Amino acid sequence: MTSENSIQEETIQATAVSPGIAIGRVLLLRRKFLSEAAPADVTISESQVASELERFHRALEATRKELLALRDELEAKLHNGDAGIFDAHLMIVDDRGMNGAVDTMIRDQHKNADYAFFCTSSRYAAALGATEDEYLRERAADIRDVSGRIRRHLENLESDDPALEDRRIIAAPELTPSETAGLDRNKVLGFAVETGSAVSHTAILARSMGLPALTGVPRKVLEQLSASDTVIIDGFHGRLILHPSPRTEESYRLKAEEAGKVYSAMKTGSTRPETKDGFEVNLAGNIDSVADIETLRSVGVGGVGLMRSEYLFNCSRLPDEEVQFEAYKAILSGCDGHPVVIRTLDVGGDKLFGTLTGRKEPNPFLGLRGVRLTLKERRDLFRIQLRALLRAGVFGDLRVMIPMVTNPAELDETRELISECRKKLQQEGQECISRLPLGAMIETPAAALSADILARHADFFSIGTNDLTQYTLAIDRGNERVAYLYMPSHPAVLRLIALTARAAEANRIPVSVCGQMGGDPLYTALLVGMGVQELSMDAGAIGPVRRVICGLNMAEARLAAKAALSAPDADTALSYSRKLLEKAAPDLAALL
Ligand code: PEP
Ligand code: MG
Repeated sequence: MTSENSIQEETIQATAVSPGIAIGRVLLLRRKFLSEAAPADVTISESQVASELERFHRALEATRKELLALRDELEAKLHNGDAGIFDAHLMIVDDRGMNGAVDTMIRDQHKNADYAFFCTSSRYAAALGATEDEYLRERAADIRDVSGRIRRHLENLESDDPALEDRRIIAAPELTPSETAGLDRNKVLGFAVETGSAVSHTAILARSMGLPALTGVPRKVLEQLSASDTVIIDGFHGRLILHPSPRTEESYRLKAEEAGKVYSAMKTGSTRPETKDGFEVNLAGNIDSVADIETLRSVGVGGVGLMRSEYLFNCSRLPDEEVQFEAYKAILSGCDGHPVVIRTLDVGGDKLFGTLTGRKEPNPFLGLRGVRLTLKERRDLFRIQLRALLRAGVFGDLRVMIPMVTNPAELDETRELISECRKKLQQEGQECISRLPLGAMIETPAAALSADILARHADFFSIGTNDLTQYTLAIDRGNERVAYLYMPSHPAVLRLIALTARAAEANRIPVSVCGQMGGDPLYTALLVGMGVQELSMDAGAIGPVRRVICGLNMAEARLAAKAALSAPDADTALSYSRKLLEKAAPDLAALL
């Protein structure tokens, strides 16, 4: 409560998923709420029918115009076919069957346009959403998206597309990975959404875009927001401040300035920082696209520890061998000979891109995900990707890693496929590399517990702590309701990491961490103390992690790790790491 402001200031506790502070006006993706909320069922009189029909068709026309403008804007910017999504949306606006059914309901049943349209579009979306066919289910999501737009026009509400001059804070019930990826980072200040956790893909993308973000913001809070509202996102502590008083706003501006200073002082430095007692740790970047290389270079990082290649598949047309080859070549060329680890296609779970995953699964996280899909049902895609990688490998130091490994056979079969692809390329007279190091992602308890076996089949390990935590603790990584239990410092997770690091050491293969834990300075001491030699993270996390490493003492980190491994719970384990963080980088610790 403030005396300066007539509306009460309110602080909402949410989950911090990307650090930083954002202060600005809200852009509420109202269409996302509208597509789900039923409007009032109003019976109109015969004399109102004509005007209600006209209102509905005016809304359709306005939506059509809006979509055409968006398509042209995106087409001009991307030139990659992604704007095609708007063509699919335009077809929905022009769907005669659906529009005819709305007209009939208005004319014959005397229903108001909003209600008639809601009932009809919901029926269409529900029918498609219930099908087994992944493609048709995606169309259901399109219908919901478009119907939100039409409803917005029916209600004469302002646009909720971030094609605005001033940068805004995006507020929505949820953002799909493809929606987040499609946002222009120059028009967005941060995100406040309801669903998702710190390791959901929206969160990962927010971090790679360097934007503060919160998840777990209650829907009723989001629904109350309006475009004229100023809010503050505290992405360090997971707070959303509504109607901040001038005093609060000022204090957050100072905090943002202070954080900016601490972060920019950490921007430069070695990519192989040493602890105070002389142990080197390698730092590498996590990237989703060719464009991320520039950001990595700006923080002085040369190598890539994880390229999530599935983001190349995040468009309406599947990337063919040439498109992939060009992308991998650009990444390798941009890395000036530093190692680049590209992960093969990892779809499934919450990464449901397009129609790639085939049938609907009752439990997608335990389903045909990652290497299971590419070996079992999509060898066609796997071959194309491996061929593109083998050809691009000529342009730098390429390594390839396999997601969702649980058996050595998955690595062996992939190796066979690589040899087969190489032979074919050679027969075709195409230039390609003769050796392609193959790594295993350790992201399931099965992989960690059998790391000693897998180590004999892999050239390196990379620990995917996002999934490893999810599968070990039985916590859906995208579910904000159980986000409070998602604790990578749980001794069960730490023990699996330690086991993996020991197996790597015993078999003399390198081990890195490329999950979110690797880029969180809170865990640096524990990971380094457990024997992890490389940490791979989003560009924005490099500075803070480097800073912690330089202030650490390896002997102390080992002791902290040892204590954490036998700690009674996650909080106690984390407290050992936090103590070392406070000692190594007190100004950074004060922000977190
Ligand atoms: C992980 O699981 O930790 C990981 C790095 O992969 P992703 O987050 O893409 O599943
Ligand atoms: Mg993973």
